[in-house]
Amino acid sequence: MYRGGMGEHFHEGELIGVLTPEPIDRVLDYRAPEGGCWLGAFVEVPLGPRKVLGVVWGPGRGDFEASKIRAVSRVLDAAAMREELRVFLEKAGAYTLTPLSQMLRLASRVPGLSDPPSMRKIYRLGQGEPDRMTDARRRVIETLVEYGGLGFTLKELSDLAGVTSSVVKGLVAQGVVEEADTPRDAPYLPLDPDRAGKALTGDQAAAAEALRAGIRSGRYGTTLLKGVTGSGKTEVYLEAVAETLKQGRQALVLLPEIALTSEFLTRVEARFGAKPAEWHSGVTMTERRRAWKMIGQGEAQLVVGARSALFLPFRDLGLIVVDEEHDSSYKQEEGALYNARDMAVLRASLNEAQVVLASATPSLETWANAAAGKYARLDLTARFGEAVLPAMRAIDMRSEDLPGQAWISPALQSEVAARLRKGEQSLLFLNRRGYAPVTLCRACGAQVGCDHCDARMVEHRFQKRLVCHQCGETKPLPETCPACGVEGKMAAVGPGVERIAEEAARVFPDAKLAILSSDLFGSARALKAQIEEIAGGETDIIIGTQLVAKGHNFPRLTLVGVIDADLGLQGSDLRAAERTFQLMRQVSGRAGRADVPGVALLQTFQPEHPVIRAILSGDEEGFWRAEAAEREAAGMPPYGRLAGIIISADEAAAAFDLGTRLARNDGPIRDAGGIVYGPAPAPIARVRGRHRVRLLVKAPKGAALQGAIARWIAPVKTSAKLRLSVDIDPQSFY
Ligand code: ADP
Ligand code: ZN
Repeated sequence: MYRGGMGEHFHEGELIGVLTPEPIDRVLDYRAPEGGCWLGAFVEVPLGPRKVLGVVWGPGRGDFEASKIRAVSRVLDAAAMREELRVFLEKAGAYTLTPLSQMLRLASRVPGLSDPPSMRKIYRLGQGEPDRMTDARRRVIETLVEYGGLGFTLKELSDLAGVTSSVVKGLVAQGVVEEADTPRDAPYLPLDPDRAGKALTGDQAAAAEALRAGIRSGRYGTTLLKGVTGSGKTEVYLEAVAETLKQGRQALVLLPEIALTSEFLTRVEARFGAKPAEWHSGVTMTERRRAWKMIGQGEAQLVVGARSALFLPFRDLGLIVVDEEHDSSYKQEEGALYNARDMAVLRASLNEAQVVLASATPSLETWANAAAGKYARLDLTARFGEAVLPAMRAIDMRSEDLPGQAWISPALQSEVAARLRKGEQSLLFLNRRGYAPVTLCRACGAQVGCDHCDARMVEHRFQKRLVCHQCGETKPLPETCPACGVEGKMAAVGPGVERIAEEAARVFPDAKLAILSSDLFGSARALKAQIEEIAGGETDIIIGTQLVAKGHNFPRLTLVGVIDADLGLQGSDLRAAERTFQLMRQVSGRAGRADVPGVALLQTFQPEHPVIRAILSGDEEGFWRAEAAEREAAGMPPYGRLAGIIISADEAAAAFDLGTRLARNDGPIRDAGGIVYGPAPAPIARVRGRHRVRLLVKAPKGAALQGAIARWIAPVKTSAKLRLSVDIDPQSFY
C-alpha cells in the first residue's frame, strides 16, 4: 500500500481511500470534501443510506466506477490518526489475523467523536470596577485573583467563593468578571517530572538509572523489571515515566485491574503534583472523550489504563509500562483476540519507545525473552524497608482432621486465631467465586447445569441465585430437583469464597470479616471503598478470590492461608503449572508488607507435586528453568507456536463438519511445517446455546504461521450461523 508522509493533504475532489469500522474487507474510495482533507483525518462518509465514521487511509484505488464514488460528508473535529498508529493497527491486525476494520474499531471507541466542537463558558477576572463592594463580591474577586488563571465554570467559581451564581452574574454585567468561551474538553493539569521522588535504595536507583538511559536513547527497547511484591517496582518505573515526560513524550501505564488504579492515581499525584488521564471501563463518557482528544493533542502526558488504552491516539508515545505483565486479563478473549503485553511491544517498536514489563512472577514468555537477550532484565531482590518475604509452608490435608462441609483445617485455624489475638490480619484465599461450584440432588445425583452452556451453575448465596460463569445466565435455586422432581434434596457441594466466609464466621464468631470477590461489588467505587477499609486495618479476616492477589497494600496482613493450592493444577491447560506458581507467589506476597514478617500456608493434598515444591522452596529460577525445559522438549510456546481455531455454530454437526473439512485439507499448514490437531469439542462445548469445536495448530518457532492459516481458512464461508475465529498464541483453551 502506498504510504505518504505525515500530513499529506488531498485536494477537494481527489480520490481517497477511507477505512471504516464496518465489516467490509477493503478500504473504500471516496472523493475529498470541500476544503480537502489530510491523511489520517477522521471523517464521516456516506455508506448506503447511512453515514459512518472513517479514517482517510491513503489515496483511492480507483477501481470503482468513477461516477458512483461519493464525497466525504465532513471532516471531524479530532486530531488526524498518525502514521504510527495506522501502521500499528495494520501490523497488529496482520499478527492476530484480525480484519483492519475491526482493528479500527479498537482505535475509535470514543463517545461523541462525531459531535461538533462544543464550547463552555468560563469566568475570569475582567477589567471593570464594581459599583459597590460587598463581602460576597470581594470573595469572588479574591478567588479569581488567587486561583483563577485558567478560569472557572460558573459552578466552580460560585462554590469556591461561597456565593450564589447571581452574584457572579452581577459582576459579569459590570465587567468585573469576564465570561469567555473555551473548548469543553480541558487539557489535563501538567505533571511536574522535576519534583523529587522517594529516595531510592541502591538496587532501585540502579534499575531506575538503567530505565532512564533507555528513555534517553530515544530508541526502542523492552525491559523486564522483576522484583517481589513490595520491592519498589512502581517507584522505579515512575522514574522512567518522569524521564519520558522530561523528554516531552507521553507515557502509558497499563494495569490489569481497574480496582488498582485509584491507589496508583494517588501515587502519581504525590509524585508529579497532578493526576494523569484514565482510560478504562469505569471512566465516564465525558471524561473518555476528553481523554481521547487530549491524548491526541499531546495535552495528556500520562495515561493510566486497561488494555484498550493501547489503541489511544498518542501524539508521541515514549514509554509503555505493563504492570503485572503476566496477568491473563491482558489477553482480550472476545472480538479481536490480542495480548496487550505483546501488542505493547509491537507499538513501542514502531515508535522508538521503551517498554517496561513489571512483575514479581513474569510469564514464561517474558522470562525466556529475557534469558535469550531479547529483553533487558532488571532485578529488585529485596523488599523495601523491613518487609521480608513470608515464610511458606504446606499444610498436608491428608493428615488434617476435618469434618465434611469444612475446609479450614485445624492447623490453619490455630494460626488465624493467633493473628486475631495479636490484632493482625489474615487472608483466606480461594480462587473461586460464589458459594458452591456444584448444586446436586441428593435423591438422584443430577447436577444443575446451565440451559445454554455445558457448564454447571454456581450458587451465589448473596444473590440467592445460581449463576453460569460462562454466559452469566442466572436462575433461582430450585426447591425441587429439575431431573427427578423430589423436593428438598438439593445440596451445595464444594466451597466458593462465600462458603469459606460462612465457615470463618462460624469458627471465629467475634472476628470482623470482609469478602473480596469481583462479583460482590456493583461498582469500582464500592470495591475501592472496601479495599480502603481493609487497608485501614478495619478487618480481621479477608476472604478473597484472585482479586486480592493483585498488588493491593494491606500493611497489617501477616497470614495468608491458601484454601486449595491444588485447584489450579487440575486443568489440562498448558499454563496450569505456571499460573498456579504465579498466583500462589502473588497471594503469599500479600503477607508481611509492613514491619511484621508474614507467613503463607498452603493447604494441599499433594505436597510433593513439583509446582507446590517449587513454590515452597522459593527456587524461582529453578522452577522457570524446569518449566522452560519441558516446554522446549514438547515444542510448546515460547519455543514453538500455537494457534487456536474456534468454530461455533447453531448445530453441533455444522461445527464438526467444518472442523473435519479443515483438518483434512491442512496442506497450507503442513507446507509451513505445522500440524493440525482436532477437531475436538471445546472444553466448554456449548456457550450461549452455540456449539463450539476447536482445532489446534502447532508449528515450529520460525514458521510463517499467520500466512499459512490465512491461506488455509480463506475458502471457508462463514455466516451468522457458522462462525470461525483464530486465536494466535492462545492463553486459555476454552
Ligand atoms: P511493587 O510495585 O514492587 O509492589 P512498590 O513500589 O509499590 O512495590 O513499593 C512498596 C511500598 O514501599 C510502597 O508503599 C512504596 O511507596 C514503598 N517504597 C518502595 N521503595 C521506597 C523507597 N525507596 N522509599 C520509600 N518508600 C518506598
Ligand atoms: Zn451458561
